[in-house]
Amino acid sequence: MQVSHWLPCFSQDTVKQHDLSVDPRNGKISSFRCPIIPQNLPSVIPSDCTTKMSQDLENQPLLATRSGRSIGSQSRPPHKIVTIQRQRHHGRTWCRMAAFSAIGLTVVAIFNAMFWPRSSLSRDISWFRGNKLPSAEIERLILESPEPDRIREHSKYYTSDPHLAGRNFQQVEYTKAKLEEYGFNVKIETYPVYINYPLEHRLALLEEGSDDAIAFEATLEEDILEEDPTTGIANRVPTFHGYSASGNVTAEIVYANYGTHEDYLNLVAKGVSVEGKIVLVRYGKIFRGLKVKGAQDLGAIGVIMYSDLADDGEVTVENGYAAYPDGPARNPSAVQRGSVQYMSLCPGDPTTPGYASKPDSPRTDPYECVPRIPSLPVSWKEAQPFLKALEGNGLGAPDMGDDWSGASKYNYSTGPSVAKVNLYNLQNTTISPIWNVIAELPGHTKSSEIIIGNHHDAWIAGGAGDPNSGSAALLELARTFYVLKQQGWKPLRSIVLASWDGEEYGLLGSTEWAEDYADTLKKRVIAYLNVDVAVAGHSLEASGSPLLERLFRATLGKLHTPEGDSLIENWKKSSQKAILYPPGSGSDFTVFQCHLGVPTLDFGFGPNKTDAVYHYHSNYDSFHWMDNYVSDSWEYHSLVVKILGLMTVQLADDPVMDLRVSEYARSVRYYIENIKKMVPKEWLNEKTSSIAANFHKIEKTIGEFKGKAGKFDGLMESYSRRLNHDYPWYRSWHKILLYFHIAQANQKVKYIERSFTREEGLDNGRGWFKHIIFAPGYWTGYSGIPFPGLVEAIDANDIETTEKWQEIVLEKLEKIIDCLD
Ligand SMILES: [Zn+2]
Repeated sequence: MQVSHWLPCFSQDTVKQHDLSVDPRNGKISSFRCPIIPQNLPSVIPSDCTTKMSQDLENQPLLATRSGRSIGSQSRPPHKIVTIQRQRHHGRTWCRMAAFSAIGLTVVAIFNAMFWPRSSLSRDISWFRGNKLPSAEIERLILESPEPDRIREHSKYYTSDPHLAGRNFQQVEYTKAKLEEYGFNVKIETYPVYINYPLEHRLALLEEGSDDAIAFEATLEEDILEEDPTTGIANRVPTFHGYSASGNVTAEIVYANYGTHEDYLNLVAKGVSVEGKIVLVRYGKIFRGLKVKGAQDLGAIGVIMYSDLADDGEVTVENGYAAYPDGPARNPSAVQRGSVQYMSLCPGDPTTPGYASKPDSPRTDPYECVPRIPSLPVSWKEAQPFLKALEGNGLGAPDMGDDWSGASKYNYSTGPSVAKVNLYNLQNTTISPIWNVIAELPGHTKSSEIIIGNHHDAWIAGGAGDPNSGSAALLELARTFYVLKQQGWKPLRSIVLASWDGEEYGLLGSTEWAEDYADTLKKRVIAYLNVDVAVAGHSLEASGSPLLERLFRATLGKLHTPEGDSLIENWKKSSQKAILYPPGSGSDFTVFQCHLGVPTLDFGFGPNKTDAVYHYHSNYDSFHWMDNYVSDSWEYHSLVVKILGLMTVQLADDPVMDLRVSEYARSVRYYIENIKKMVPKEWLNEKTSSIAANFHKIEKTIGEFKGKAGKFDGLMESYSRRLNHDYPWYRSWHKILLYFHIAQANQKVKYIERSFTREEGLDNGRGWFKHIIFAPGYWTGYSGIPFPGLVEAIDANDIETTEKWQEIVLEKLEKIIDCLD
């Protein structure tokens, strides 16, 4: 075995001491390797080198000394020195080359060993999926790319013509063309649906004692405004209710306040009957279809709905604000159109509940989901003669309660009126195609995707707020992703942009599509982000699954309003503690959250106390109104694009799915604490009832859920950190292990929301709603009532059903705890 004394030579000493290989058995030189020989070496060096070479050549025993003399060889013949000196020049060149090469190779080898094979799992995945854009650059581009002027142009296009569901193909094609231009794979998905379009209507107050003499006839028209061109468009959409029944009814009227379940119970309790009458209700508090259902259930034959100025807050003419178009207050002729479908019972096509509406689909009786009685909406202005007709008849507002009256000078008597009212409504009810535009940006992996949706249909020519502030933002989001793609970005997971049709009638497009692809979507979708009214004011409002709360908050933390305020602080003003409201219904997230069990988020900027009154579903939700009273810079629209962009990319690109469970445990505990307060005290003391014991078990299990959720989130966070650790090549197996751990954790978190669904769905004819925590309240329609099965059973004073739901809740929580292990 040779002992090499080779070491890098950096000094004269080391040259002398370490440039030989010596056989330790006999002390003979076995080889010679000369390292760097600097140009300015003193004259003694060549002789040393020569000496060594001569010794090597002669293969004599040698121990080199510092002075260059060797032990055992005190003298040498002069001719040998001459010969060797002649070779010295070539030797030096060779040495130099060899030395440089060796050192170079060594440096490269060390560098490679230290750096080149050293990479993080995050970088490996990015490389493997073909992404060339670092995450910091992606974020920068998302923040810088959205252009308010482009959003304004899209908005102008969408709001220039009527675009009722199924009558908007031009806009569908525009959306498709734009998404294709931005590099998406786009298709139009068509569903034939049961739908109605207005033909004729009339609303007249008759003279007292007469069945035909007219005292007042409503125009049922909104004023045409010179300043606002789309209010006078020739083919403007009449004022009507989607899914209203056709009918011609004449009867006295009864005022029923907001037409909530409580309002009808109040009337019944005080002996005011609506049977055979036409009910007058004001908009607000609950979904309009449930106002009609409440009236119909009590025997009413028609419903009139109006907007009361009392519900406009501070921005009223009475408080000194001018009415639109001269100011931000409500134009008194504004009419809110809208659907009267029973959204809390069966969203989607009323004739195909629970399955997709296709040409050959069987169709059922729609009247489980829509009213049999006609209804019409009217303006504040045209509601006054009807309120006047009620005055002094029946019970007065003070008899009915504190919130019974509104802003009218007439006194909100319950009626019935003496004079009759004629309500005539003729609808063309038909089967018509509606069109969803589905655009995909394929990710590296096809097994997971994120969907961002907005609907494109509106009740009017405008719709600058609802829904086209969202539609314009969606197109700019698509362009932002296109910019990223141009720079070399490729998402890890697929991104789907959906532009739904028929939302306004009852979430038709999203529901039919999701029912059509339910199995695939349940496997693939990790989150659905919804934007409907993206901008109608300056106050951020949001509802959604607690799984997305942390990400939403983190995203807002990176952004500011155009005025420079923190977006989190803005959100706190509407949600107090900056937490997501429980999702209910009223937009396209419903089928994903409540039917499929996909975590969803729905957000937008609504009016704050001093913002212009939002003319919801009226001709005055127009481009002119948006441009002059809400968003002259269009920066809020741009902010929506940034929120969606940042969240989507995080969900699509982060190898550790950005869904966190702790917020879920906290929310569930909060909901159950509140529900417990609703339970009659005697139930908790009842010896034969297990309700108190069940609540105790539920609370204990929630505690366990909270603990497991915290641990699970901690694990996810540690995976996130380790993703960015650089590992040398010889520790690659750490990365492989980490990869599999992440895949396993992702698989768990992806299906947490699904675990809260129940095949049988809710009680009371709400089998379509399969999520046991999130659904709209039966009698609210819009707002979410957490744990609806439990709440409805308690409301109904039904101990047995309450116990049943307690057991369901317990079983689901235990299953999720097992899943988190
Ligand atoms: Zn909408």
